[in-house]
Amino acid sequence: MSTHPTDVGSYPTTRLRRLRMTETLRSMVRETRLDTSDFIYPLFVVPGKGVKKEVSSMPGVFQMSVDSVVRECADVQALGIPAVIFFGIPDHKDEVGSGAYDENGVVQQAIRAVKKDVPGLFLITDVCLCEYTSHGHCGIVKGDEIVNDASVELLAREALTHARAGADMVAPSDMFDGRVSAIRARLDQNGFPLIPIMSYAAKYASGFYGPFREAAESTPKFGDRRSHQMDPANTDEAMREVAQDVMEGADIVMVKPALPYLDVIHRVKQRFGMPTAAYNVSGEFAMVHAAARNGWIDYERVMMETLVSIKRAGADLILTYFAKDAAKVLKRQR
Ligand SMILES: [Zn+2]
Repeated sequence: MSTHPTDVGSYPTTRLRRLRMTETLRSMVRETRLDTSDFIYPLFVVPGKGVKKEVSSMPGVFQMSVDSVVRECADVQALGIPAVIFFGIPDHKDEVGSGAYDENGVVQQAIRAVKKDVPGLFLITDVCLCEYTSHGHCGIVKGDEIVNDASVELLAREALTHARAGADMVAPSDMFDGRVSAIRARLDQNGFPLIPIMSYAAKYASGFYGPFREAAESTPKFGDRRSHQMDPANTDEAMREVAQDVMEGADIVMVKPALPYLDVIHRVKQRFGMPTAAYNVSGEFAMVHAAARNGWIDYERVMMETLVSIKRAGADLILTYFAKDAAKVLKRQR
């Protein structure tokens, strides 16, 4: 924001430090406040029973079987976090990602179990194929090409199985063209006109996803995702992506990753005025932990500063692995 000369008086009449002298006063003039209700907590669901396996590059983040997920969701709700987003890792992967749209897949089972045992928690599902395909790509592969339209058809099918299982919102993360309208149409035709879509609208081909791919076991076996995810250098293109998703019926738009793309979050919020989410991704999380473990930074302080910067940039909602720790800090501060 530009400062006009008239906005600020001159020294010594004006001393900007006056409002910073006590914590009470600083708190009274604080412009941005984090709230636990801003957070969405990501969870990784795996087959089996009693499974709770920590992801080595993401301290405190686990792959969990459905029963463990239910317990985790109860903890999440007790902390005041309103929502979780599920990612599924099937026991069997194939070329077409069948596990993604299996009515009895891991995510579909998790939704039913959590709905029953932890009512009131808002359940979001990630809609993509990369955790379910043997090649690790987000859609169907023909030759060297990741095929758009046939993949979109499978994503619509996946979203419908999530809605049927009881999901409160679906979140397509693939970045294929036309997926939002395809999912919207499929949900509407099958009696789910009120299930909202949170689209990963501006998702960049980012190196910050590294630890997630360990957690979701979704590293592509060949090639990369640059033919569908965005080039980190572009922001005008992000506006086009978001505009298209809004026209197709997205209810919430997301920017991913968050910290290296705060300018994009800001532009999206200013331009569209849509409910805007930002995904504070695994690499952003892992870096803070790694530096804190070395004693190089203060974990809590950097975590809270990171989250408030994302909100200050314009995000209304933050998907973050910090959600539980940040909720505890916010509770203490109250
Ligand atoms: Zn994917």
